[in-house]
Amino acid sequence: VVEFGTPTRSVVTTCAYCGVGCSFKAELNGDQLVRMVPYKNGKANRGHSCVKGRFAYGYANHKDRILNPMIRDRVDEPWREVSWEEAITFAADRMRGLQEKYGQKSIGVITSSRCTNEETFLVQKLARAVFGNNNTDTCARVCHSPTGYGLGQTFGTSAGTQDFDSVEHTDVVIVIGANPTDGHPVFASRLKKRLRAGAKLIVIDPRRIDLVRSPHIKAAHHLALRPGTNVAVVTAMAHVIVTEGLFDEAFIRERCDWDEFQHYAEFAADPQHSPEATELLTGVPAAELRAAARLFATGGNGAIYYGLGVTEHSQGSTTVMGIANLAMLTGNIGRKGVGVNPLRGQNNVQGSCDMGSFPHELPGYRHVKLPEVRAIFEKAWGVPIDPEPGLRIPNMLDAAVDGTFKGLYCQGEDILQSDPDTKHVAAGLAAMECVIVHDLFLNETANYAHVFLPGSTFLEKDGTFTNAERRINRVREVMAPRTGYADWEVTQLLANAMGAGWTYTHPSQVMAEIAATTPSFAGVTYELLDEKGSVQWPCNEKAPEGTPLMHIDGFVRGKGRFIVTDYVATDERTGARFPLLLTTGRILSQYNVGAQTRRTQNVLWHEEDRLEIHPHDAEVRGIKEGDWVKLASRSGETTLRAKLTDRVSPGVVYTTFHHPDTQANVITTDYSDWATNCPEYKVTAVQVGLSNGP
Ligand code: SF4
Repeated sequence: VVEFGTPTRSVVTTCAYCGVGCSFKAELNGDQLVRMVPYKNGKANRGHSCVKGRFAYGYANHKDRILNPMIRDRVDEPWREVSWEEAITFAADRMRGLQEKYGQKSIGVITSSRCTNEETFLVQKLARAVFGNNNTDTCARVCHSPTGYGLGQTFGTSAGTQDFDSVEHTDVVIVIGANPTDGHPVFASRLKKRLRAGAKLIVIDPRRIDLVRSPHIKAAHHLALRPGTNVAVVTAMAHVIVTEGLFDEAFIRERCDWDEFQHYAEFAADPQHSPEATELLTGVPAAELRAAARLFATGGNGAIYYGLGVTEHSQGSTTVMGIANLAMLTGNIGRKGVGVNPLRGQNNVQGSCDMGSFPHELPGYRHVKLPEVRAIFEKAWGVPIDPEPGLRIPNMLDAAVDGTFKGLYCQGEDILQSDPDTKHVAAGLAAMECVIVHDLFLNETANYAHVFLPGSTFLEKDGTFTNAERRINRVREVMAPRTGYADWEVTQLLANAMGAGWTYTHPSQVMAEIAATTPSFAGVTYELLDEKGSVQWPCNEKAPEGTPLMHIDGFVRGKGRFIVTDYVATDERTGARFPLLLTTGRILSQYNVGAQTRRTQNVLWHEEDRLEIHPHDAEVRGIKEGDWVKLASRSGETTLRAKLTDRVSPGVVYTTFHHPDTQANVITTDYSDWATNCPEYKVTAVQVGLSNGP
């Protein structure tokens, strides 16, 4: 830990890493940040933290930070440091010029799930009110967009149903496609406490995650499914519940559409969905699956927690709907201890979705096609809103390659490193005539940029983040922006240089605009957040103190909707050339592509990305612990060291993606979720062989 003396004052703010949203006291000596202390009144963490939030903030002062704006005419030229005024004028002129030459829809934005709600709101407003189109998307496209679709279709809104406290009342927990110990550590501690107290656990994951291996927790069932077969497993559980009469008929009759339930029940009961019929496909022993389904249906309060192992599949949205079906079948919605709980990855991915980052939805998940919704924003913003949905990130890149999409403002997102099919992303970026990267560091995407606008860290701004339990937490300025401007101010500069005339002087004014236009935020003010510490949306006239639990008396959409979940095998197939399946995940000490965690001296665990391979698969390839191996797929290849472990089953390999050298996304395919284009990161057919190293 870097220590700078005795603290003399403190500022309460929110961690900028994962979706748990832990509160911290940033303790300072004068203007010098001394340490981050977990805040005991933080409702998401109650005084706890993990290694990232506690120690990994040194990146704010890292030498790689870019503090001055830079421009260049062509990407093969060196950067020129310029004043803010020159950079903004350059960017605005180029973007307007592109619209004049190629049309109003030739430019767009990508919002950041690392930035505040207020900043995200302004970036999508820039697209809609200044560019005059709906070309706005967010990194949720590559993580939880299937949650948005799946929960929207079944329950009526895209959000976890519970607060974290709810886990203390649960009796049976399904953890599917998530590894909370590494991904959401503070929530994992609360979950483990409940499991140690006797709650039963069902883990559905190809890998023996920490929860399965912990000697203090008896995982009742580990369904080690073959990657890509989530839908078949979830439907087989529903088959058992329906055919054995274990469903909650009273709940379904009262709360759900009965006709749709009957249709779904008929589908689920088909013998082709039985555990026995799906065992060969999923690799899960039928008896184990049957027992898990019975336990979930009869074991008391049942809660489901899930992560990107659910969403990042070609059937990500289908699995989310299957999970919602399971919760409705068993009556596990609308009270403490139950529910459907997506474990959001980024600190504000929930907020970036809430704030209208998607090309088809205005803030509050309302479709741009609805005239009554557009009218609210047209009145507030004084401009017409385009009724046609805009382009998703992959569509922006396709259009760029086709020559119709020419300019991009990308805030706090490194799409070249984080999005699938790196070659295609590079081709799209290279085809654009103005790429504006707004970030802390010269990231990989900036290799294709014409304008670099230096960003501010969470320590340098005011605003709010919304965590995985819909909790709106305050982010408070700990130090002045090192670049001179917080990110929301930079977006305002760009908007005004393009003729907008925005006059915000503080993010609280942006929140007032969000509240005035978005019913689920209608009651949110900075005063309320200061008074309560935090609130969970919906927060409005009906729920002035927020909503810890959703769907108590009825679903947001009215009746809960069962949706048939046909299993469709991924197009990614194993074969003689690529016989193994690769899946990916995180480790505790690192975060996503590592832009922040790799640039802090406070985190001592700087593991390299390694390839986990089962000892049997290693032996037949002559691979020993620590050997360099080549990992190859139909898309590309990379080199990394092998780690022999039975955490993965034979036939499955696993790696993390925290280091740019690993280039995991060179390996992954360009298949994606049928409903949302969320990439299928979790299933790639690969071959592994010995290598001499990189
Ligand atoms: Fe930050 Fe998540 Fe760790 Fe909490 S659990 S300190 S929010 S990274």
